Amino acid sequence: MRVMLVEDDAMIGEAIGHALKDASYAVDWVRDGSAAVTSIGTQDYGIVLLDLGLPKKDGIEVLRYIRARDNPVPVLIITARDALEDRIGGLDAGADDYVLKPFEMGELLARMRAVVRRKGGSASPKLTNGAISLDPVTHEVTHAGASVHLSAREFSLLEALLVRPGAILSRSDLEDRLYGWGDEVESNAVEFLIHSLRKKLGSSAIKNVRGVGWMVSKGE
Ligand code: CA
Repeated sequence: MRVMLVEDDAMIGEAIGHALKDASYAVDWVRDGSAAVTSIGTQDYGIVLLDLGLPKKDGIEVLRYIRARDNPVPVLIITARDALEDRIGGLDAGADDYVLKPFEMGELLARMRAVVRRKGGSASPKLTNGAISLDPVTHEVTHAGASVHLSAREFSLLEALLVRPGAILSRSDLEDRLYGWGDEVESNAVEFLIHSLRKKLGSSAIKNVRGVGWMVSKGE
């Protein structure tokens, strides 16, 4: 899943960016409100992490911009402990939740998963499809009950497909979700990942729609 991190504090941004990459997220880090507005206009994100005190445009303005365009992306506000009015203003402007600085990375990651899950209309954290089951919390993947070891990018790709069964994702859709700015993308990286996932999960697990992309079945 691709994340837009909007944070002007270099140390906090750095720390969050590392934690997100460790948790297999692709991260685009922007450091001011104008840059945030530009990126959200050109790129689809799975979630936005939004600091409120930002140069150029503050976080609330960024949030209003997002919601004024009917963009339903989950937005999690990152804010200081004392700023009660900011938190209320943020939620009223269309944020889905907030975390208070300073926070533990584990809490941030858990809140991100919860917000994404709620927005996706699913109360259960596990994604299942046929014999495949994927747990976004523990990162455990099983096939017919047996545990399967996946690389971080294989996991992200499988998750992207399982979130929307029946939807065809093109190579560029998948690259968008798997890679952030500055990540090097080999031209056939997605095909390699699909090939490897099929070896591990069975060749029928992921369907190829010739010339268009890949999908998992919508299920019974
Ligand atoms: Ca700030």
